[in-house]
Amino acid sequence: MKLADTIQDRTLRAIAEKVEQDIPVDQMDTRTMLTTTSILDLGAIAQFVRRRLHGNIAYYGVNMNMNYTNICELRCPLCAFSCDESDDGSYVLSLDEIKERVEDAVSSGIDEIHIVGGLHPRLKLDYFERMLQCIREIKPDIFIVAFTAVEYDYFARLNNLSVEIVLRRLIDAGVNAIPGGGAEIFSPHVRETIAPKKISAVRWLEIMHIAHTMGLKTNATMLYNHQERVDDVIDHLFRIRTLQDKTHGFKTFVPLAFHETNTRIHAHRRETTGYDDIRIYATSRVVLHNVPHIKALWMYVGEKMAQVLLNFGVDDMSGTYNNEKVVHAAGARTPDYGSEPSLRRIIMDAGMVPQRTTAGYGTKAEVTT
Ligand code: SF4
Repeated sequence: MKLADTIQDRTLRAIAEKVEQDIPVDQMDTRTMLTTTSILDLGAIAQFVRRRLHGNIAYYGVNMNMNYTNICELRCPLCAFSCDESDDGSYVLSLDEIKERVEDAVSSGIDEIHIVGGLHPRLKLDYFERMLQCIREIKPDIFIVAFTAVEYDYFARLNNLSVEIVLRRLIDAGVNAIPGGGAEIFSPHVRETIAPKKISAVRWLEIMHIAHTMGLKTNATMLYNHQERVDDVIDHLFRIRTLQDKTHGFKTFVPLAFHETNTRIHAHRRETTGYDDIRIYATSRVVLHNVPHIKALWMYVGEKMAQVLLNFGVDDMSGTYNNEKVVHAAGARTPDYGSEPSLRRIIMDAGMVPQRTTAGYGTKAEVTT
């Protein structure tokens, strides 16, 4: 039976017909999907795209998080993680501390490390080069996903270098891929409120463009459930899709539900509902037909919702993320790491086949050899 024949909702049926014929959905279709209550129909369309790309496989990673400092010049209102140097609890990890944490995590069998931190004016490029080299020495084949576009822009300005040179030096020191953070929501009127000093959407996209042309694969995120409107979500998705048409450098799109505890944003919104999350993830899957993976970070949406989303367009459950600090500072109540057996169980219980991988999406064998 054709997909469209299974869809009850008439407007969504027209979208299903396009998707079956590989016709990219337009902005009106996107608005329809972001506002529908017919989520089973929407899910069927998103799963059609997901299955075409990944069949019955669901990916997960065994990784650790490294937040090297929480001291940040920008102090974005949306951020519960950052602080000033004089604040209680501020820290910068020394290379010895980093070495100890990585050795510990490597001995427990991680394949990947995810590194992001605040914008610290005294951490020059050699600190990051030595950090990456030290991690590589501990485990030469570890997959390193490091520093957001916001950090690359800052490193370039702080060290009086071009972004291209910063990227080249950090790639040479060990970076394999770039995480998608800092995208927030592209719309300037929202960005001015939630992260007024952060680089603009245009600059974020420009840095991703440069990284893609240098051969790096990157993620892209979208922060939702704060002050954005449906139009802002549509704008965000289409700007990602447009750049991807040019570069094909985005591997994964990662929607992130905003947590407002300890931030200076009073969104006056409650936590997302199940339908909110499903609409965002399923719509992203359909609109971003040219981005291979849609990832749900279970520590943002909760393990149970992440499992449900595997049947609404998501193919990547994210990883174990030992030591995640950013979303937990903002009130996430999930544990700060999940074990590999628990992630596999969640995936298999959803009727799918778990595949251990990294942000590069090699298989376990490719990851470890
Ligand atoms: S969101 Fe990032 S750039 Fe903004 S204050 Fe927090 S750590 Fe700094």
